[in-house]
Amino acid sequence: METITTTDLSKFGARERQLAEILLRAWRVQGLPEDFTDEEVTIMLNTNSGCVFLTNSEFQAVMFNGDKLEIFYYCPNCGNEGFEKEIMNDGKCKQCGEQIK
Ligand SMILES: [Zn+2]
Repeated sequence: METITTTDLSKFGARERQLAEILLRAWRVQGLPEDFTDEEVTIMLNTNSGCVFLTNSEFQAVMFNGDKLEIFYYCPNCGNEGFEKEIMNDGKCKQCGEQIK
């Protein structure tokens, strides 16, 4: 399936703009995750999933895990994706053993 992402806020609906507000507020209140590179940070929308997240020059993605901002990881080897605790043991993919972090 094709993934279409955009940073164009005119493509964000009311719901997506609200999610962007909540993300910006969480960034202000709790800061960005430690391992997230603080460069060229922008708000991005996945128009397929309706998912709104923060991303950066390293193409890392930050989303809410519950009410906490966390990096959403992707295994380049097997495509496994999720938050660190869900998909990794000691920085390695639980599914294929690839070093992700
Ligand atoms: Zn993997």
